[in-house]
Amino acid sequence: MVAWAVTNLVSLGKATDAILSENYRSILAAENMVDAIERQDSGILLMYLGDAQKGIAQFRENEMGFLAWLARAKDNITIAGEEGLVQSIETDYAAYRGRFSELTDMNAAAGSPFQSSDYQETVYPLFARVREACIGLRNLNEQTMYAASVNAGRVARRAIWSTVAVAASASIVALIFSLVLARRIVEPIRRFMEASRKISLGDYTVQVPVETGDELGRLAGEFNQMATQLGRYHEMNIDQIIAERNKGEAILASIEDGLVVFDTRLKVTGINPAARRFLDLNGPENALRCCEDILPASDVCNLIRKTVETGIQPSIPDEQRIVTLSKGEKPRHCLFSVTAIGGRDRSLSGIVLLLKDVTRLKEVERLKSDFIMAASHELRTPLTSLGMSVDLLLEHAAQGLAEKDRELLQAAHEEVHRMKSLVNDLLDLSRIEAGRVEMEFENVPIPTLFDHVQAVFKSQTGMKEVALTMAPAGDLPKVRADANKIVWVLTNLVSNALRYVGKGGHIQLTALRIGRQVHLSVRDDGPGIPEEYQSRIFQKFVQVKGREAGGTGLGLAICKEIVRAHGGAIWVESAPGRGSTFTFTLAVAR
Ligand code: ADP
Repeated sequence: MVAWAVTNLVSLGKATDAILSENYRSILAAENMVDAIERQDSGILLMYLGDAQKGIAQFRENEMGFLAWLARAKDNITIAGEEGLVQSIETDYAAYRGRFSELTDMNAAAGSPFQSSDYQETVYPLFARVREACIGLRNLNEQTMYAASVNAGRVARRAIWSTVAVAASASIVALIFSLVLARRIVEPIRRFMEASRKISLGDYTVQVPVETGDELGRLAGEFNQMATQLGRYHEMNIDQIIAERNKGEAILASIEDGLVVFDTRLKVTGINPAARRFLDLNGPENALRCCEDILPASDVCNLIRKTVETGIQPSIPDEQRIVTLSKGEKPRHCLFSVTAIGGRDRSLSGIVLLLKDVTRLKEVERLKSDFIMAASHELRTPLTSLGMSVDLLLEHAAQGLAEKDRELLQAAHEEVHRMKSLVNDLLDLSRIEAGRVEMEFENVPIPTLFDHVQAVFKSQTGMKEVALTMAPAGDLPKVRADANKIVWVLTNLVSNALRYVGKGGHIQLTALRIGRQVHLSVRDDGPGIPEEYQSRIFQKFVQVKGREAGGTGLGLAICKEIVRAHGGAIWVESAPGRGSTFTFTLAVAR
């Protein structure tokens, strides 16, 4: 298009240039020649009028101009007829000049004035012919110039139309070309998009055709390779997931403990055969049932719900983690634990409930308690008479015995009493464990409990120079308790403290209300309890090594059973060398 426009502009330029070079210069020359010859003629007339000198000067002056313009006209002969006209001008002008010279020579010789007849006959006709020829030259060039200008106009119009036509066809070609190009580029991209969509839907068999060897072709090759690799990874992942799932299912099916998995809406999402057995559930319809639908223990469901709400795993003592499932003929006792399953971003994604069947253990425990109860009951009577006999012997026959025998008798007396208290403790403990001790609950003021304890230890604290103090508890509410049993617990805790604090030590009884509970504490500044023992000393026969001090190791176990029978809890806070604080809870009386 640009080439076409340039060509047009060049031809338009040529057309206008032709006007200038071919015609305009000739017209200018003709005009000036007419002008010069007219001035020459007026110079001749001046001579006739008597001013010969001025007339001659004017003639000669314009003669130079005329000849110069004539020379230019001769140099610019470009059109037909122009040459003839210039020749006739040249010839006639030469004659005209010759005639003028004759006139001036004659005039100078004769010294007479010019005759107008000379002018009319000889000079004027030549002047008129030269002038006519000059005008003819000008007209010829004017006509040619007009024709050239018409031609230039035609060239310009043709240039406009042809340029428009060429521009239009160039636009159409460009449009077709861009459409073809766009199709060539867009079509492969569309194929890539389609293939990507299929891959995102899981179809890894998709392939993009490789048609060209350019960048798009190479990209298609790479894309196909990527899809194949993705397909392989996918297969591998699925195989791995299936293997892991099968492994998990095999483990769950083979373990003896029951496992139930809940989602965060407490719907069952998984349950193993053992749990089905424990909960007496058959068939797959248990999936997506609620916790309460499968588990007849609302407190466990509440615990799971609380775990979901707070996201914190509950820490509850072992004895409160027993759930009794009595769906079958025999009740089944299960030790349960609730574990939160963390998601990827550490948020909660579910809950696992583990049920461990402890029915047999419970049964063994019960048999053991029954045996201990029976044995200690049977042992108590002979031990009592044995104790009484040893006491009587010590009282009446000791003086007659040798020193060594008296010591043996004294040792027998102490051992019998130790055994008696052990048997009594064992009997008490097994009775409480078996639930055979009836609690006589009443609303008890805390100062009453404290006063009892103080009365019991009055003489002992005095002897050992130990200060037993009580924090004011007058404004505390009454507690719901069996007063005798709680006094027993407090007495046991104080007697332990008394046994371990040194001379001049301190024991303090405090009570503090926290919510619907009162916390009762016995604090001492004795040797304290090593950390590894703190959770174990409430078990039977557990004593801190090297600190047995004549006890049975059953006192704290009995305390725990009594507190548990009251629905409370007992624990110790201690650091070696910094004393111990035993605390238990009782419910506030309604
Ligand atoms: P025991 O009859 O041996 O006192 P307990 O069950 O009452 O049995 O106590 C268990 C063990 O706990 C004791 O043997 C003792 O080692 C430790 N113990 C209990 N109370 C205290 C205390 N106030 N200070 C230090 N140790 C204590």
